[in-house]
Amino acid sequence: MNAYLSNVIERVNRDHATEPEFCQTVEEVFSSLEPVIEQHPEYEKADLLNRMVEPERMFTFRVVWTDDQGAVHTNTGYRVQFNGSIGPYKGGLRFQRNVNPSIIKFLGFEQCFKNSLTSLPIGGGKGGSDFDPAGKSEAEIMRFCQSYMQALYRYIGPDVDVPAGDMGVGGREIGYLFGEYRRLKGCFENGVLTGKDLSFGGSLIRPEATGYGAVYYLQCVLAHEGEDIAGKTIACSGFGNVTWGICKKARELGAKVLTLSGPDGYIYDPDGVTSSDEKVEYLRVMRASGHDRVKDYADKFGVDYYPGKKPWGVKADFIMPSAVQNDVDREQAKRIAQNHIKYYIEVANMPTTNDALAYLMGQPDMIVAPSKAVNAGGVSVSCLEMSQNSEHIFWSEEEVDQRLHEIMVKIYNSSVEASERYGLGYNLVAGANIAGFERIARAMMAQGIF
Ligand code: GLU
Repeated sequence: MNAYLSNVIERVNRDHATEPEFCQTVEEVFSSLEPVIEQHPEYEKADLLNRMVEPERMFTFRVVWTDDQGAVHTNTGYRVQFNGSIGPYKGGLRFQRNVNPSIIKFLGFEQCFKNSLTSLPIGGGKGGSDFDPAGKSEAEIMRFCQSYMQALYRYIGPDVDVPAGDMGVGGREIGYLFGEYRRLKGCFENGVLTGKDLSFGGSLIRPEATGYGAVYYLQCVLAHEGEDIAGKTIACSGFGNVTWGICKKARELGAKVLTLSGPDGYIYDPDGVTSSDEKVEYLRVMRASGHDRVKDYADKFGVDYYPGKKPWGVKADFIMPSAVQNDVDREQAKRIAQNHIKYYIEVANMPTTNDALAYLMGQPDMIVAPSKAVNAGGVSVSCLEMSQNSEHIFWSEEEVDQRLHEIMVKIYNSSVEASERYGLGYNLVAGANIAGFERIARAMMAQGIF
């Protein structure tokens, strides 16, 4: 490997040994960049790679809230403003028990390349808290969000940093966060957050966007193989907003989603989660219940439930891990390959361990699509929401959906083009990393050394 590149990866692994997820994503992205760094010696001269792995800014803050019994709790809040060279920092907030600096940094780093790949003017950021929303009352969630925003509001803004949702943060939390921002600032700056309700500047299709975008991207991959999505089967993990969007679009296009999963195990529905609107909408019911378990689906619809297991041994046309990071390890990757599955479509951020990813990409008949391209529809529609807010306009469902579709096709095409241009053939993973990198590199080079 190129000496500069391997030195940077080695240094990151050494200096950030306490941040395993962050090291993992740096290695994954940078190992695609060899031909680019070889052809552009000016990048090494400007030490571009070391500059890219260092966030422009990252901070933690105290979030104190009182529960319904009057007990006081203290959580850690995070925001990383990773790279602002192509636009205001943009990325979601994750409220989950296991949130730590490594997870926030890995998500922020990925977000930079994802957002760049969309071709829209958004930089990379991410944030969250180790607050666990499970089992909390509505009033507790509201007080937590208000306290979180009291600490964050000075450091964000429509042209500065625009947070949104991620795991544990949906429309309800965005509403409370925005309410507090508006109260503190004394003005209606709704471009400061995306994923808002339609009544105060949200965009149509935003809740569906990540799932719809994933299916649109999959359709591009299938078109390349001369195949169609109708009649095909999908093994998904997760049951959150993203999986719901996939199910909704898959149902519309005649594909069948066979599995869902949660922290408790997975369910297998032979008729398909996609066989009725009631089933698809039940994902939202499960999410709203706060139980955080998928077993409720099996109880409700009388299908098989496999406690403590993941759905990766299931035979399906497409594997779409849509839950959490590192959902598929090397052993599970082997089972996927043994089932002769041709399409491995990552959806969640970094759902595959690096060695599982290398293993899958090494299978001669397998096509691997990377999450930073596949799930970029969510943040893309967030950017469309920002445009609507700044222009004080409201686009129809068809208009947003059409733009989302165009963006996904563009993401796919630019990945294929970048991969081919560097002589890597049809490599969607490397292509996405290179295309995302190129735009940030160009902006950073143009803006001077800092
Ligand atoms: N959390 C989502 C992501 O990972 C959405 C971010 C956004 O809409 O800003 O891209």
